[in-house]
Amino acid sequence: MMEVKSLLSERTQFMKASDIRELLKWVTEDVISLGGGMPDPSTFPKELADIARDVIATKGSSALQYGKTEGVDELKDELIRFMAKDGIKADRDEIIITTGSQEALDLVGRITIDAGNVVITERPTYLAALQAFKAYRPNIVGIDMDSEGMVMDKLEEAVKKSISDGRRIKFIYVIPTCQNPTGISMSIDRRKHLMELASKYDLLIVEDNPYSYFLFDGIYVPPLKSMDYENRVVYMSTFSKIIAPGIRVGWVVGNRELIRWIAMAKQAVDLHTSTLSQYIALEALRRGIIERNLPRIREVYKVKRDAMLDALAKYMPEQVTWTRPIGGMFVWASVNGVRTEDMLPVAVSKYKVAYVPGKSFYPAEDVHTSMRLNFTYPSVDMIYEGIRRLSNAIRDELKR
Ligand code: PMP
Repeated sequence: MMEVKSLLSERTQFMKASDIRELLKWVTEDVISLGGGMPDPSTFPKELADIARDVIATKGSSALQYGKTEGVDELKDELIRFMAKDGIKADRDEIIITTGSQEALDLVGRITIDAGNVVITERPTYLAALQAFKAYRPNIVGIDMDSEGMVMDKLEEAVKKSISDGRRIKFIYVIPTCQNPTGISMSIDRRKHLMELASKYDLLIVEDNPYSYFLFDGIYVPPLKSMDYENRVVYMSTFSKIIAPGIRVGWVVGNRELIRWIAMAKQAVDLHTSTLSQYIALEALRRGIIERNLPRIREVYKVKRDAMLDALAKYMPEQVTWTRPIGGMFVWASVNGVRTEDMLPVAVSKYKVAYVPGKSFYPAEDVHTSMRLNFTYPSVDMIYEGIRRLSNAIRDELKR
């Protein structure tokens, strides 16, 4: 038998299966999952069936053909209009369409990180971003957050330390609005401060923004990219939550030279993002479907966010604390005295509830007391019942 392990590159040996994927394997029908990060399928636009048929019937010669690596120009033009509402300006050659933002994270890592370079992130941060970056062997420096987001004094300290250690900082990765996993949004003052520090130390910022479309209660927070007077923000967003994740279309806006390098890397990875999916996204934008659906999706998610916060207040013992997100898809809960990764098998098998243990969202996997709870996928009833079950699992664990 061929020995596969010896075939693997050093880089591959550092890869690790996502805890979420491992967890999903065990979740049977009787388990309420607060673990995934999935949209509510009732938010998928009904119009997609017509759009897909029309696109294939009338645009088939382009929509079913190979396309440019950078993406379909008409989609870029629609995105330029779409982003203008958020104060983001871009030309076509400052945009590349990607296979979801996940690909964008990998491509940015691929073209910038050499082993040992510093990448700064929020602590905790999106675990699949860590997964993408770690393949390129950076030294990831996590910066603590409080209720206003990344703490700027700690960021500046870390930047100074990297510089004095002679380590090159390649970028600061942030999810400033309704962060995954904590649900925290960076305050406006912090956003300004972050832009000032980036300017002072000449740093690139990678802004990952899948969730700003789901700010509730009429709250609005501008993206960093709209405050980017020196063109040092690489901005990424995605149709995953505003159309559907299955279409796998995201986009990146940034410095044109960086975009050219990203395109070069992408060419080797997948030639281009599915043209069919790009044309579907283009038509969804053109027909105003996203704009029309967003208020309804916001309302659905707000009701679910409120249900989760209410259920937490109703059921959780006093050792548990949690964030109160102004939007997005997640609440982050912490329990003094419980190792959430150890509690998970019991929670799933005995209490029939699943969540994502917090450990894997920390660059050094050194915090064990937190967990990510998703409120968009389960129904309101399931949220109440799921949190009730989780509270019982926690009480049980606290007694040990
Ligand atoms: N970034 C963040 C912060 C996310 O939460 C997600 C999806 N869970 C992604 C990127 C990737 O999304 P997609 O590839 O579906 O666009």
